[in-house]
Amino acid sequence: MEIEEIEEDNVIQTDNLEDNLPHLPPRVPKRGRPKGKDKTVIGVPKKRKLTSKLLPFEGLPVNIRHYEMLRWFVDDGIAKSAVYENKPVHEEDVEVVPERVSIAVIDKSIAIEEIKCYLTEGSWLAIQQVIKMKKLTPTWICPICAKDAATKSICCNRCLEWSHFICVRVNANFKSKLWFCKVTQSNTNLKNTT
Ligand SMILES: [Zn+2]
Ligand SMILES: [Zn+2]
Repeated sequence: MEIEEIEEDNVIQTDNLEDNLPHLPPRVPKRGRPKGKDKTVIGVPKKRKLTSKLLPFEGLPVNIRHYEMLRWFVDDGIAKSAVYENKPVHEEDVEVVPERVSIAVIDKSIAIEEIKCYLTEGSWLAIQQVIKMKKLTPTWICPICAKDAATKSICCNRCLEWSHFICVRVNANFKSKLWFCKVTQSNTNLKNTT
């Protein structure tokens, strides 16, 4: 009996010894994100992708798209606090002069109802009114030469403004799913560096 007890003690002692041995550091996964994945290694959606990549308007993350849509009608700060702080946009915040509102508001890819949730009844009506007027007398103004761009022009897939083929030096037979104007491109490049 006594011998068995000693043997047991010995076993326990060696177990303890093993526990006290220095352990190798755990394998640390490589830094950086695996290419082609939407999420980081810890499962958080990639942030960089949202700003650095040139996305067409309809492909923007919902928050950013809503913010940009609101900016067609209201000041930057009001659009921001509507989307990110749930502060409703009031009627008096809405720009009601159609000439000062982007032609993007009547683009067929836009679903203006998307921003209804940020508006009061009054501001929603004001915005609908502006769009109505814009549709009655649509004017496409080329951002380069500030002249009518209803024809011989190309639409930027991000800001939805129309520029003359000649002004942006794009061939009229240009065939591509997406085209982005210089302003859009430089804005995106700026975001990349910050
Ligand atoms: Zn032009
Ligand atoms: Zn653009």
